[in-house]
Amino acid sequence: MFGNLDTVPELLKNYQFKTGEEHKYLGDYYRLMVEQSDETGVLIENYNMILAVQDIHSTSQKEFVLDMWYREQARDIFVDAMASAIVKAAPYKVSFPDLKIYRLDDRWGSCSPKSQRVILNLELIKTPKECIEYIALHEMLHFRFPNHNVSFYSALATLMSDWKEREDMLNRKYRLN
Ligand SMILES: [Zn+2]
Repeated sequence: MFGNLDTVPELLKNYQFKTGEEHKYLGDYYRLMVEQSDETGVLIENYNMILAVQDIHSTSQKEFVLDMWYREQARDIFVDAMASAIVKAAPYKVSFPDLKIYRLDDRWGSCSPKSQRVILNLELIKTPKECIEYIALHEMLHFRFPNHNVSFYSALATLMSDWKEREDMLNRKYRLN
C-alpha cells in the first residue's frame, strides 16, 4: 500500500502525539515537537507545532493539551467567521446565534432555527479559513432557509460565489471519516 497521510480521514488517524508527527491547523500541516515544561501549552513557530507538557510520555496529557489549544483557537476564529457571515447575510436579517463548538463525527455544522443555535464542528479548526467561513455562512442561511432548496442555494451563490469549491475542498482534502 502506498502511504499518503492525506488520504486518511482525520477521525480515522491514530495520533500518537510524538515529535515528528504531522498535525493540521487552519489547513496547513505542522510538525509536532513535544517538549517537557511545567507550563503546558502549544506554540506555533514556522511550521512547527510545539507542544509543551509536564509528562512527555503521557499520551492522554498530550492529547488533552493539544485539544484545549484547538478549542481556544476555534472559539476566536469561529466567532470571527460567524460575525462575517452575519455581515454577508445582512439582507436576510440574521442575528448572532447561540454558538456551540462540539466535535462531531459526521457533519461540519448544524443549525437549529427553533433554538437560535448553530453548532460548528471543532474539527473545522484543522481546515482553511475559507472553509470555516463557508460553513458559518451555510449554517446562518438556514435561519432564513431551513432546507437545502433552490432558494437556499441561490442565496448562498449570491453571497459566496465560490462556495462549491470550498465545499469540495472540505470533502476532498479534509474528510472526517
Ligand atoms: Zn445545510
